[in-house]
Parts: sequence; C-alpha cells; structure tokens
Amino acid sequence: MSEKPDPREFRRVMGLFATGVTVVTAAVGERTHAMTANAVMSVSLDPLLVCVSVGKGARMNQFLEEAGGFALNILAEGQEDLSRYFAGMWQQPAPPDYRFVPWVGGPRLEGTLASVGCTVAQMVEAGDHRLFLGRVLALHRSEGPLRPLVFFAGGYHRLREAVPAARDPLEIWPPEEARIFYEG
Ligand SMILES: Cc1cc2nc3c(=O)[nH]c(=O)nc-3n(C[C@H](O)[C@H](O)[C@H](O)COP(=O)(O)OP(=O)(O)OC[C@H]3O[C@@H](n4cnc5c(N)ncnc54)[C@H](O)[C@@H]3O)c2cc1C
Repeated sequence: MSEKPDPREFRRVMGLFATGVTVVTAAVGERTHAMTANAVMSVSLDPLLVCVSVGKGARMNQFLEEAGGFALNILAEGQEDLSRYFAGMWQQPAPPDYRFVPWVGGPRLEGTLASVGCTVAQMVEAGDHRLFLGRVLALHRSEGPLRPLVFFAGGYHRLREAVPAARDPLEIWPPEEARIFYEG
C-alpha cells in the first residue's frame, strides 16, 4: 500500500493552483468581522452560488452563522497589506487604510476589484474546514483597468499586463463551447 501523502507536500502542491485573494466580511449588528480567504469558488449559475472554505478554528465561523450572510471582496494588485492584515499576519503598529461600507450580505471593502454579496444558503462540514455556500444577492465591480492580486506558491504576485475591462464570459467561452460545457 502506498504511503499517505504528506500534508505539507499537499499544501505545496495545492499552492501551485494560482488564485485571487478575497476578504470575506460578515456583520452582526454593529460588529463587522473580516478574514482573508483564497479557498473560494464560483459554484452554480442557476441559482447563483459561491463557496468559501473556512477553517474550523477561525472566528469567522461564528460571524457567518450569526450574520446569515457575507460578502466576498476580491483584492486588487497592491492590496497585499489588506490580505496580511485580515489574515492576522500584520506586524506594523498601525493598521493599513481600509473602509467598510454597509452592503448586501456583508460589508463591502472599498477599493477592491469587485464584491459579491450573499446570503448563507448551506453549510457543509468538510474535515477541519466548513464550506459556506452563498446565494448571490448583489454584485459590484470597480471601474477602469482590472489588476488582481494573485496568490501562488505561498506568495503574492501580479499579472504582467492589466486586463483593460472585464470580458463577457461568452467572449471567453465562445457560444459553441459554452453549449458543450453546459449542456454536455
Ligand atoms: C492568502 C491567504 C489565504 C487564506 N485563505 C484562507 C481560506 O480560504 N480559509 C481560511 O479559513 N483561512 C484562510 N487564510 C487564513 C486566515 O485568513 C487566517 O487564519 C485568519 O486569521 C482566520 O480568521 P479569523 O476569523 O480567526 O480572524 P482573526 O484572526 O480574528 O482576524 C483576522 C485579522 O483581521 C482583523 N479584523 C477582523 N475584523 C476586523 C474589523 N472589523 N476591523 C478591523 N480589523 C479586523 C483582526 O484584528 C485580525 O488581525 C488565508 C490566509 C492568507 C494569507
């Protein structure tokens, strides 16, 4: 029988899957909580669903359960400080500049690339994490050239070129391919 894969090697290998970086926000009354997350995915078009995987030890769990909603704020290039800060990895005496504005699902973090506001549709236990499926209620997109913050192999990176504007998904997947993709 083959040996069980080493969890550290698992992290190294999965770290080769380049992702964006989000800050998940949830609010219970006047209290806002925010957490950096890259284990995020788009799940379904009908209904519109997204998913974020939250470690069971994270304080965010309690907020998501109590708030019943959240916002995913997709970070832009140059927002490494926000990523570090909301991951509890901030070493400076003063926090970086940020501003939350009340929004749908959870507070919107101003100046990010885009935001997705959701209500919690389902929570699934998954090992040492919990998957929170969010039903999408609102979308927000920043104006101008799009430059995302990229996380890859344990570090922050940037795309070489800015994407001038968001393309329609059908431009990415031509209609023929989209039909094959969606209708099998
Ligand atoms: C690139 C990256 C990706 C990650 N992806 C994931 C992931 O997908 N899933 C996962 O579970 N973990 C992920 N983490 C780890 C996660 O961000 C940290 O473990 C986090 O500290 C756990 O969140 P918590 O709810 O316990 O927050 P805490 O550790 O309590 O808070 C995080 C930090 O944010 C500050 N903060 C929170 N809310 C506010 C507020 N309203 N105003 C001001 N400051 C505030 C806190 O003071 C603290 O410094 C990731 C970390 C990084 C760097």
